[in-house]
Amino acid sequence: MNVPEMFGSMVFNDTVMREMLPKKVYQSLQNTMIEGKALDEDVADIVASAMKEWAVSKGATHFTHWFQPMTGITAEKHDSFLAVDKNGSVIMDFSGKELTKGEPDASSFPSGGLRATFEARGYTAWDPTSYAFIKDDTLCIPTAFCSYTGQILDKKTPLLRSMDAISDEAVRALSLFGKHVKRVNATIGAEQEYFLIDKNDYAKRLDLRLTGRTLIGAPAAKGQEMEDHYFGSIRPRVKAFMADLDEELWKLGITAKTEHNEVAPCQHEMAPIFDNANKATDANQLTMEMMKKVAERHGFACLLHEKPFEGINGSGKHNNWALSTDDGENLLDPGKTPKDNAQFLLFLTAVIKAVDEYQDLLRISVASAGNDHRLGANEAPPAIVSIFVGDELESVIESIIDGKPFKGSSSSHLDIGTSVLPKLSRDNSDRNRTSPFAFTGNKFEFRMPGSSFNIACTNVMLNTAVADALKSFCDELEGADDFNSRLNELIKRELKAHRRILFNGNGYSKEWEAEAEKRGLSNYKRTPDALIHYADEKNLELFRRHRIYTKEEMESRLEISLDEYQKAIHIEAVTMSEILRRQILPAAIRFSSSIASSVQLKESIGVTANADKALCARLSTLCDGLLLRIDELDECVAGTPAETEKAAFYAADEIIPKMEEARKLSDELETVTDKSYWPIPTYSEILFYV
Ligand code: ADP
Ligand code: MG
Repeated sequence: MNVPEMFGSMVFNDTVMREMLPKKVYQSLQNTMIEGKALDEDVADIVASAMKEWAVSKGATHFTHWFQPMTGITAEKHDSFLAVDKNGSVIMDFSGKELTKGEPDASSFPSGGLRATFEARGYTAWDPTSYAFIKDDTLCIPTAFCSYTGQILDKKTPLLRSMDAISDEAVRALSLFGKHVKRVNATIGAEQEYFLIDKNDYAKRLDLRLTGRTLIGAPAAKGQEMEDHYFGSIRPRVKAFMADLDEELWKLGITAKTEHNEVAPCQHEMAPIFDNANKATDANQLTMEMMKKVAERHGFACLLHEKPFEGINGSGKHNNWALSTDDGENLLDPGKTPKDNAQFLLFLTAVIKAVDEYQDLLRISVASAGNDHRLGANEAPPAIVSIFVGDELESVIESIIDGKPFKGSSSSHLDIGTSVLPKLSRDNSDRNRTSPFAFTGNKFEFRMPGSSFNIACTNVMLNTAVADALKSFCDELEGADDFNSRLNELIKRELKAHRRILFNGNGYSKEWEAEAEKRGLSNYKRTPDALIHYADEKNLELFRRHRIYTKEEMESRLEISLDEYQKAIHIEAVTMSEILRRQILPAAIRFSSSIASSVQLKESIGVTANADKALCARLSTLCDGLLLRIDELDECVAGTPAETEKAAFYAADEIIPKMEEARKLSDELETVTDKSYWPIPTYSEILFYV
């Protein structure tokens, strides 16, 4: 296999563009891609024609505007290149207009009240900053999605806006240090966790098929306590899947780099090489899609749910984030000279300020019914946002705040801009796996996102909040008489003000919860608790200031998220009720009545049947209880209030506890029911397949 040759073979990338586009057109497109400049109209026609020619040569027959509506998954509507020319002959055609703008019917996508159904039209607009690619014989054109009146209906548009915002402010900040760059990009490496289980088991479980997770299931005799799966040897079947996945991703220009087993049985991870936030987000969306598709081919089902199985780890997505100039300088790299150090400290301080001031937005960006099972459980970061910077950097920060010498340093105190930072060892900084937001040497790793999430939202929050911090810094520092002393002052003041967000201890501990409360950090345990703060005045102001969202757009997003949560729980409850009523209860009753018959039989020949009787009685009691619980659950679901916010809280307060009660009885029944009667695959069968 020739990887370099295969890599990106299905992507209309820089090499192809260079080859196929006239020099001037290529240059104009480059300006758009690198500097975010608007694209000339006549350029679009030439690009479209080249794109079509390239796509047809690769066997493509259709094209689609590929976009990311608020459902979180990607959407596409296929059109063929087919056209009829003047002479009535069929030709393959694709115009600049078709490339740059599409008009899908928007009425079936969530809009949170932004768009009345009678104005169903929405439009998609080409995003030339992410490469077009071919998937299933279709040329896919990454696009943004808006309502006809220009209100945004997708996840890409705000991401692009937030990338512009952070670029503008970072460019400003760099010029304070005498560096003049055109663009600063947020860079992202999204590590993707997932489960692979046998397709046959998946097919037999309605809960997995409809909700992505198991709603019932007693724990397997073995879980992850032996810690033998993490980085363990990979099953040959899984290895074949991974090899195939790599190949598919490489063709799409996705830099799949590492594949390994994760902590839980059947759990794995794929990490790509980082890219700018826009491309990385598109790549991650595609990765999730390909994982599911490739799994099918190998007789697997790929589960991207945050918590497919109770009692063992769920799946997350680590969002590695840094800032990079167009010259490739990583602004979160401490550097070696005092000047580099000072610049690093300014950017570091901006991140600390941003995360502290907008901890609620970060929490909101990872809020979902699925992720609620992870956050705060003993496997994933808590619902409290805090930053881990490592001992060395922490002592540097302390020395700045207190004006004291830091450990191991000979100088009296750290004078930003003149003294040199101690060299930070990278190993040291990555040790705390319990932190939701960890500095790992030259980037931050945000570990709260759920495995099924579109990472756009998280990065919109992060980019915008950091842009805002940088903006306030630049406003203050630009035109300062003595830059160095103002810088020292500012960094000291801001670090002091936001010190509370720094935490190097065990994020899983109870003590931290109490301590965090004392520090005034927010701790929103459930999705609706977090979501209702989305449109708080300070957040509206932030997004308005950086022209990311209008108030209406934010309110619509809030409505969509609450609704999504409420619906997810609703579907789970209804699915659970159906499984319990139509599969579990009948099976347990069949089993208990077979015992009852055997009791009669045994007693008729004068044989004791004490065990039979005891078991039968136990089963019957559990069944009685279970039926009661199912009825209560159904009744509870029927009582769901109509209004979205109320329904979301009702789901969290009322429905979830009812589901938990029903599950408890069902799981107990499972442990006493003859295996041959149990109608669905159990945890041991699913997790320890051969
Ligand atoms: P690990 O977390 O397993 O130690 P790494 O730290 O090397 O592995 O990388 C984890 C992820 O972070 C990878 O996807 C990698 O590409 C990404 N990454 C590395 N550097 C950066 C950066 N500057 N910006 C964003 N992501 C990065
Ligand atoms: Mg990592």
